[in-house]
Parts: sequence; structure tokens; C-alpha cells
Amino acid sequence: MSRSLSAAIKKKIALRAKYRCEYCLLPEHLSFYAFHIEHIRSIKHGGTNELSNLAYCCPDCNYFKGTDIATFLDNDTLVRFFNPRRDDWNSHFMLEESAIHGITDIGIATVRIFKFNDVERLIFRQQLAELGFYP
Ligand SMILES: [Zn+2]
Repeated sequence: MSRSLSAAIKKKIALRAKYRCEYCLLPEHLSFYAFHIEHIRSIKHGGTNELSNLAYCCPDCNYFKGTDIATFLDNDTLVRFFNPRRDDWNSHFMLEESAIHGITDIGIATVRIFKFNDVERLIFRQQLAELGFYP
């Protein structure tokens, strides 16, 4: 999260995301914590504070992603993460109840590193889904 972004910019990003994490789709109003503004390409990898490089992000996704931008899959190929500014969520992921599965290399890499399906996150999303709040 950048400390240098204005409140107006932060609100614009939150509105653009409809107050949901742009990675795991968790709604902020049902989270226990305020969401973050996340650099899709981290500053240390040349990212900027442009709106095209910023995403609205739950604390879990932001924590597990950190400053990473990609990972290696089993075949030793470097695969970038899902980019909410240029990728379509439904083209890279599918929901099976509250579990999020990657259906492309980008989706698989993102699910793994962001730990979308850690048991506590899975249970929380399942509870939200049962109440009609997820996705
Ligand atoms: Zn998230």
C-alpha cells in the first residue's frame, strides 16, 4: 500500500473495484479489515503510482503477493500473476463453491502464490456464499 496516494485517488480505485478485492473478489464491507491499494507491478520492479498499475486488494492477497510479480510453475516457466487492469477474471479463474481454481497458467500461478484457498479463507468465503454475499 502506498502512503503517497491521495484519499481521492484511493476512493476512485475502490469505486472502480466496487469495493471488492480485485483478485479473490472478497467484498470489503464483509471483511474485518480495511482493504489496501496494491501495486500490480511493485515499485521495485519498475511499477508506478498510475491508476493503470493499482488495484484494490484485501489484506490477505496483498500480504501473500507482497512485491512479487510472477512465479515458476512446475515446468520451470516463469508465469506472471493475474493483472486486474488487463485480464478478465473469468478467463483465468473459476469458482467451485467458494474455492477459486486457476484455469490458465496465470490463474494457477496467482491462486498458488496468493493462497486463495487457504482453509481459513475458504471457510470464510463459504460462509459468505451461504449468506448470498459471495461472489
Ligand atoms: Zn483478496
